[in-house]
Amino acid sequence: MTKPIYVIGHKNPDTDSICAAIAYSNLKRALGFEAQPYRAGELNKETEYVLDHFNVEHPQFLADLHTMAKDFVPEKVILVDHNELGQAVDGVEEAKIEEVIDHHRIGGITTAEPILFRNEPLGCTCTIVAKAYFEQGIDPSREMAGIMCAAILSDTVVFKSPTCTAVDRDIAAKLAEIADIDPVEFGTAMFEATSSLSGRTAAEILQTDYKEFTLGGVRIGVGQVTVMGTAGVAELKPRLLDQMENLRLDSGLQYVLLMITDLLAEATHLLVGGDEPEQIGAAFKATVEDRTIFLPGVLSRKKQVIPPLTTYFN
Ligand code: MG
Ligand code: MG
Ligand code: MG
Repeated sequence: MTKPIYVIGHKNPDTDSICAAIAYSNLKRALGFEAQPYRAGELNKETEYVLDHFNVEHPQFLADLHTMAKDFVPEKVILVDHNELGQAVDGVEEAKIEEVIDHHRIGGITTAEPILFRNEPLGCTCTIVAKAYFEQGIDPSREMAGIMCAAILSDTVVFKSPTCTAVDRDIAAKLAEIADIDPVEFGTAMFEATSSLSGRTAAEILQTDYKEFTLGGVRIGVGQVTVMGTAGVAELKPRLLDQMENLRLDSGLQYVLLMITDLLAEATHLLVGGDEPEQIGAAFKATVEDRTIFLPGVLSRKKQVIPPLTTYFN
């Protein structure tokens, strides 16, 4: 009996890590493999909007790979949109990682055997997945094209992020044509429908897109939310800072940061939790006022927030 391959993105999944898992499983099946997409956490509002818009089934939740392993035979997994074990589903150490498809920094994964490790410095994992379809001569369905295009719009903030490349734009245009959508219109509608902070608890906001990193021996959690204008943010701030401090102490982290990224102003308000907020200020060569650093032009955690922190703490 062949065991199915689990295709799964990172914990606290964003739209890319869910859509990449679904679309890549779909491609693997088209190529004759038995592959199933899973999610390593709750879907956020944006991802639900995307899957529902294109009528795509929500993937099943997988809490721990280890509990699925029968007779200690490792499960086969393909990791998408991450390659750091700290961000991966629990139990991944027991699994056999077959492939990694990603667009992040290489974060210390080791394997017993050679694997297909495809990491490209592009704006979105779904750009790589779409390239894989075209390379194999397989046309994605309207649904698969739609969710991959949506993931590109999400990760590149409708092509505005500095992580966005010409390849992302080209692939998104191809996918948009298949999905019969206007990418800028769809992306704007998606952010408008799902980026409001109102009616959400501080905990929900912090967990929307939250990741932990070890940078030069310093453990830092960095969350990000996108907003269209900062109305209501000042009022929420004390509760967000409280929540960040709770999370920091519970998880034994030195810092917890929250990027509130305003797509209208194309700027980030970085909330800083930790005993020495001025250290974070120094990393960005900026002043911290009331536990907040204003970062004009900053939209990308990966390209504009993690690198200065990495440099500073090393
Ligand atoms: Mg992601
Ligand atoms: Mg991504
Ligand atoms: Mg993302």
